[in-house]
Amino acid sequence: MAKSSVLGYPRIGADREWKKALEAFWAGKLEESEFHGQLQEIRLNHLRKQREKGIDCIPVNDFSYYDHVLDTAAMFGIIPKRFSYKGGVVPLSVYYGIARGTKDATASEMTKWFNTNYHYIVPELDGSLPAITENRPLIAYREAKEKLGIEGKPVIVGPLTFLKLSKGYKASETDTWLERLLPLYVRILQELASEGVQWVQIDEPILVTAISADDLRRLKTIYETFAASVPNLNIMLQTYFESVENYSDIVALPVQGIGLDFVHGLSGNLTSIKELGFPADKVLGAGVIDGRGIWKASLREKLDLLEEVAEFVTSDRLIVQTSCSLLHVPVTVNNEASLLTELKGALAFADEKLEEVILLTKAVSSGEAIIVDELEKCESALQALKRSGERNRNDVQQAVASISAQNPERHLPFSERHLIQQNKWQLPLFPTTTIGSFPQSAEVRKARQLWRKGEWTNEQYAGFIREQIDLWVKLQEEIGLDVLVHGEFERTDMVEFFGEKLAGFAFTQNGWVQSYGSRCVKPPIIFGDVAFNEAMTVEETKYAQSKTELPVKGMLTGPITIMNWSFVREDITREQIAYQLAYALRQEVEALEQAGIGMIQVDEPAVREGLPLKEQEQANYLAWAVKAFRMTTCTVQDTTQIHTHMCYCEFHDMIDSIEAMDADVISIETSRSHGELIQSFELNTYKLGIGLGVYDIHSPRIPRVEEMSNMIERVLRVLDPKLFWINPDCGLKTRGFEETIDSLRNMVKATQIARAKH
Ligand code: GLN
Ligand code: ZN
Repeated sequence: MAKSSVLGYPRIGADREWKKALEAFWAGKLEESEFHGQLQEIRLNHLRKQREKGIDCIPVNDFSYYDHVLDTAAMFGIIPKRFSYKGGVVPLSVYYGIARGTKDATASEMTKWFNTNYHYIVPELDGSLPAITENRPLIAYREAKEKLGIEGKPVIVGPLTFLKLSKGYKASETDTWLERLLPLYVRILQELASEGVQWVQIDEPILVTAISADDLRRLKTIYETFAASVPNLNIMLQTYFESVENYSDIVALPVQGIGLDFVHGLSGNLTSIKELGFPADKVLGAGVIDGRGIWKASLREKLDLLEEVAEFVTSDRLIVQTSCSLLHVPVTVNNEASLLTELKGALAFADEKLEEVILLTKAVSSGEAIIVDELEKCESALQALKRSGERNRNDVQQAVASISAQNPERHLPFSERHLIQQNKWQLPLFPTTTIGSFPQSAEVRKARQLWRKGEWTNEQYAGFIREQIDLWVKLQEEIGLDVLVHGEFERTDMVEFFGEKLAGFAFTQNGWVQSYGSRCVKPPIIFGDVAFNEAMTVEETKYAQSKTELPVKGMLTGPITIMNWSFVREDITREQIAYQLAYALRQEVEALEQAGIGMIQVDEPAVREGLPLKEQEQANYLAWAVKAFRMTTCTVQDTTQIHTHMCYCEFHDMIDSIEAMDADVISIETSRSHGELIQSFELNTYKLGIGLGVYDIHSPRIPRVEEMSNMIERVLRVLDPKLFWINPDCGLKTRGFEETIDSLRNMVKATQIARAKH
């Protein structure tokens, strides 16, 4: 008999009750004991739900008070020195201090969990010796057993992954750190074994990346040590997000089960199994239900896949499971009341995925006849979406096929455009500008709410937005900026705003997923062919331009960013989706140009987020991402200046691609990359217009003139002064009113000093 398993369940709750509890506790509105009680209730509910659906291997210790990597660090007492932690169980004040900072100590860095939109807290191995503070997996296991009688499967971040994701130590110290950590892991596992735990899931997603020979050696040491010290505990060595590298080494490890991703790593993992077989003494965790996507699985296809897999493993050694933790998908489709029927019918969030796992497990064990009704229902739901008008727009498909067959190129190369544009715009040396948004004050948010609730008419709301634009156009002139923006007051979010106006998008009411800590996002769903309906930004931009003699930059979100921050359909490739978006946005660019806007910024902060984990796939992705940007922007006149903006650091290895986007000006976040970016521009002799952000907008601190002057001088040693712009790192929408004005004033002063010098 095959078994069913889940690798992790969302923490946030169907109503985001987890988020609400955390925030209430942080705000001092919830006593600590009550807080623990609320979180326990949420946690137990999630376990009950999985039991009710019939899942055999229910994960425990996947729940967290913030982040599971931070939990692992806290379990080992790995607390940065600046938090003056004295040993013992880590108090919540220290735990949340690391995650969010305190008044005396900055928070630990947060970074993307592989190629997902989830961010974990980076452990800092800063020298203090690790020691177990409490056996968290054991506590979670006991709780499930005592409260619910559930025989849970503790989930633990594996030692190799934990080490590779940590920072603060030199590569040469890796073995030392492993020697320190390994005995602690062993003790955790031994205690689990003596408690009677049958299976643990040890997550090693690092194994889907290219690991070195040294790490492979470490991997062997780790699992041989476990096998020798805890022989009676079953270990499921779990990988996800891609196919494993080093398949034969991994399946030869002395563990009882290997978990593979048969969704995102399907072809690699399947090929490995077929060519190299699967060890007869091991259990295979077959991750066939997509833990990251929102679509209903085709049960038919999954059964065929499981049948292929079953040639290499007997059904009593097969576990049907999700491809990764369900952390990355919303909780349930049930409460969605306003989606198109054919869309809703084709969605499966976490709870619906539990059902899919169960159905497949049943069919594998007892033959497919047992789910014949469900098979049929599933196929007809998928067919309905496939046939829907939204997915079959010939106009879009033909236009996109024809323009994507061309090489999108501006009429003139940058060197010539640049002169023509300089001539037209007559900008001073080091033109100053901002990234687009100005503070979204309580007043702005309130106005939007009133309008959304219907208490304000469209006219009232539009009037309010115009007043904000008036105010900020005046302020920008007074401050002395050279290129103005309208301020983006009408936008809550840079993706949602466009998604609501383009065809092919849908918005859920409750489709939240955790992004980091208590922060949740509700990504739009691109489910149909994307199409331009009507101008989206022209009115506000034109209005702002009518109020000033200075140029106003139009402001759009680029195709790749819109795509990477949405859930997307899977019947066509991401490349195709990007081109559809590009074609739609191109029409907006053209509409702006026609309305007399001669500078247009197309933001692409999220290009890096879509970078494939496998190195060999990265170049191809970057090539079509660049092409999509060029498709969006290539049809404008020579005099029209195309800007773009990128942030979230780590662009230093992508500069060739950034250059290939061929934007006349790029503004890029610099402050947080500590000069690394400047260095890489030096090496690459970037030839287009560029504004390296001169101050960090993530902090309320007002940057001093000298700081920015230093930054400017540093940049000018590397970049051609004629191509250099001066701007903040990113949009200012989260900043306060006064501090924004003061900071920009200082920025303009620093610019004037630089102009006098050069
Ligand atoms: N134009 C957007 C803004 O200023 C850019 C935001 C971003 O890069 N994330 O808010
Ligand atoms: Zn930005």
